[in-house]
Amino acid sequence: MDHDQLREWSKRAADWAHGYHAGLRDRPVRPRVEPGALAAALPAAAPEAPEPMAAIWADFERLIPPAMTHWQHPRFFAYFPANAAPASMLAEQLANAMAAQAMLWQTAPAATELEQVVLRWLRAALGLAPHFTGTIHDSATTATLSAVLTMRERALTFAGLTAGLSGMPRLRIYASAEAHSSVDKAVRIAGIGQENLVKIPVGADRAIRPGALAGAIAADRAAGYLPAGVVLVAGGTAVGAFDRIADGVAVAKAAGLPVHVDAAWAGSAMLCPEFRSLWAGVDGADSVVVNPHKWLGAQFDCAVQYLADPAPQVRTLGLRPDYLQTPGRDEIVNFNEWTVPLGRRFRALKLWFVLRAYGLEGLRTRLRNHVAWAARLRDALAALPGVVIVTEPSLSLFTFALAAGDGPTEDLLRRINDDGRVYLTQTRADGRFVIRVQVGQFDCTEDDVMTVAAVVREMLG
Ligand SMILES: *Cc1c(COP(=O)(O)O)cnc(C)c1O
Repeated sequence: MDHDQLREWSKRAADWAHGYHAGLRDRPVRPRVEPGALAAALPAAAPEAPEPMAAIWADFERLIPPAMTHWQHPRFFAYFPANAAPASMLAEQLANAMAAQAMLWQTAPAATELEQVVLRWLRAALGLAPHFTGTIHDSATTATLSAVLTMRERALTFAGLTAGLSGMPRLRIYASAEAHSSVDKAVRIAGIGQENLVKIPVGADRAIRPGALAGAIAADRAAGYLPAGVVLVAGGTAVGAFDRIADGVAVAKAAGLPVHVDAAWAGSAMLCPEFRSLWAGVDGADSVVVNPHKWLGAQFDCAVQYLADPAPQVRTLGLRPDYLQTPGRDEIVNFNEWTVPLGRRFRALKLWFVLRAYGLEGLRTRLRNHVAWAARLRDALAALPGVVIVTEPSLSLFTFALAAGDGPTEDLLRRINDDGRVYLTQTRADGRFVIRVQVGQFDCTEDDVMTVAAVVREMLG
């Protein structure tokens, strides 16, 4: 295939994409496929001779979409969304066409400078204080890992980078019991160890208990551990828990510890001033992660990390061997020094397109609709006999169960997802199996949202 053929097939791909999106409501959100079925339909080895694109295309159409879970389906209410607004898909096509590698300013000057500018726009739009500067990672997991590695090195006065961890005091990281598993992964990868991630119990409001946090830090110090940092949650994954960020920051600062705030999902909602009280105090954090690839519509992957002072993270992650230097250009930013991998995709382009094509007001309207529709759906489900709301809406996320117990609730979820009109997932809350509903798909309508109640009513009827 050459670039002339690429042009022709790209036009076909654009038409195919249009038809795919227009027809999504006619597909089950989650495919009815068995594990191994797709793999079994493929040859065991790559072809020796080139194959015509028409044959590859035909196999794509026949095999791939029917075996996909459709994340852009307007009735996808599972996990959190991974929204790809049309304008962001267009930007990805253009980034694709240039296929740039944005590791250094000089390997992609426009990518580096656009990243700086759109992250300033987004910072202001989220209401974060002007002292924050941002960078884009692939995922919140990587952003949190970067923050934890930086906590480790700050605690060790940057000696761990060269001397390693053996012989060092045992480090401790503190997080709420509602923290995402990416925090567990970060402490594992950082060499701190799962046993040294202290999960602080939450109160009835599902927020970290500041007294318990302060007590754990003091007890660890007395026992000879080296506390290194605190991770706070602004919108937990299971049921949308929010720590009281101001209280957590106050405890951490009193103990001289840095704070990372995980707002991967809920951060996007802070475009709306009326939701910002949920993360009040965030300006006191050292690091904040927000995933525009979740609720904001910037196609996966796009995880933004804001840093109060990038210097400690750059000192932790940055390396400048001779072959990566830019002689005579000390003032430029080389974003690979802020992140784990050297190579970087041009991710700022889609954020630029999204912010401009919908405008902040257009994005706020979507966020507000989702929150309002989630509340309406909550009421409709609560009115069904035998249904109990287990956790009330946190922004657009709530959970419900059947009063009859875990078995019947699990069975209901299986039947809902086999039906395919909507897709929901599960978690545990207050010791019971619950069905999670999150409203956040970029193209969903109120009708799509209320379909959840219609399907549940049918299943119970
Ligand atoms: C989704 C999520 C993550 C993980 O996000 P990735 O970008 O997939 O790594 C972490 N924390 C919270 C609160 C999340 O909702």
